[in-house]
Amino acid sequence: MACAILIPTLWWTSADWPFAFRPDLAALMTATVGAYALGTLAVFSRGFRHRIRWSLGLTSAVLLVTFQWPAFTRAGEAFSDELGIAIVADLVPVALGVGLLWIAARLGDELPFALIAGVALSIVVAVLGAISFSLVAPASDSNTPRVAPDAAPDVLFVVVDAYARADWLDQEFGFDNREFLVQLESRGFAIASAATPNYGYTYASVSTMLNLDYVFEPGVVSDAERTQMRAALTGATGLLPLFAAAGYETAYIENAWGGSQCGSAIDWCIRDGIGERALWNLGQMTILAPVIKALRPDPFNALSVSRLEGLGDAVTSPAAGGRPRFTFAHFLLPHTPTLLNADCTRRDRSDITRWGGERGPLLAARRDGYVQQTICVNRLLVEALDTFLAEHPDGIVLITGDHGPGSTLDPNLPLENLAADTIEERMKTLSAYRMPGCEGSFRQDLTPVNGARLIANCALASDLDSLPDLNYWADLDGEGVVTDLTARLGG
Ligand SMILES: [Zn+2]
Repeated sequence: MACAILIPTLWWTSADWPFAFRPDLAALMTATVGAYALGTLAVFSRGFRHRIRWSLGLTSAVLLVTFQWPAFTRAGEAFSDELGIAIVADLVPVALGVGLLWIAARLGDELPFALIAGVALSIVVAVLGAISFSLVAPASDSNTPRVAPDAAPDVLFVVVDAYARADWLDQEFGFDNREFLVQLESRGFAIASAATPNYGYTYASVSTMLNLDYVFEPGVVSDAERTQMRAALTGATGLLPLFAAAGYETAYIENAWGGSQCGSAIDWCIRDGIGERALWNLGQMTILAPVIKALRPDPFNALSVSRLEGLGDAVTSPAAGGRPRFTFAHFLLPHTPTLLNADCTRRDRSDITRWGGERGPLLAARRDGYVQQTICVNRLLVEALDTFLAEHPDGIVLITGDHGPGSTLDPNLPLENLAADTIEERMKTLSAYRMPGCEGSFRQDLTPVNGARLIANCALASDLDSLPDLNYWADLDGEGVVTDLTARLGG
């Protein structure tokens, strides 16, 4: 019973590793599990002695089955692959559940159940409390607000996750993104047509932009680097403290990914939808997963869509004290799942809405879905820009991807097993700069770490040097080795 509650909860919190833990989210999910266990206990504890025994066993089994459902279905899939009989994939989890029910009905007993459930819940809450304590990023020492000059321009830093570079879209996806680039150029942007990301994965790429310097050096990833990454992702180092120290109000738009979350140094945090995320994450762990998927949109996609739709209003709302504002906004778009049609209506989740490593017939359909979602994102971006620029004609804007799409990328494979064009796609990304009066510092082959330094220089009249434009490959989970690809990519 303890395992039924503890393991999935810890699994869930560690699943975000090396990203930020969400103690509030974890506590909400733990409380839901606890209320479920105790509620079931209360409901079934009335009645005859044998019925109590039976229902406590039932509670145990239901808890196990409910919160270990992904493990059961994986077991079913493994058997099904082995035997080549599709129906086995569904029969195995049901058989496991019935078997457990039968065993539990013979083992159930009220006092041990209540004791174990109580202890397990206490441990969960204590562990989550202890873990979350050290994970709130402290405000930076250099964060001593002063008043920015009246003429200081508002700054908007937008990360569009996995946005492909135009030449790659044209060449490999058969899509000409020229119309969008022209829309940007007519609004004062320069397109970095040879832009490459500093890393192939979000946590390393985005933390490095915000840190104004490389977070992960080549070689084995260290704990110190992961700590630095979390600090940077929550806005406690680099770019955001720099603007705060210059008298800017800092705003940060979160998303449903575990990494891009406001730390305590942020003045105005536009939160992700915690209720939506809790429902979705819990739902995916249970037998109700297909029902939740049918009834609710995937928050990974849907929350970013609604935040992007609200971007124009957010960045034109008045800042406290009439200060200029620096806004950091990370959207998980046009990243998969590709649930948006070109006109921004929604499509159902299916196996073509996510990436896969294979190059079979699905690839063309998947790439087409990515293109459709990109067209929708383009329109929402232009709408937000028009709202922002009408209010702030001198506004500084950087719109950049954190890496390319990865339509043929199997993230579980080591670097040496990845095809050259898989890596190439991942290491080419959109980057567009609007830096009124600072156009001289622009280069076609800027990487985001230098882009972040340039917009800081432009807004604050600082003189941060350009760093070497380097491209690294890091593992999906931030646990492995970082490899320098710069020479290989021709940088
Ligand atoms: Zn990303």
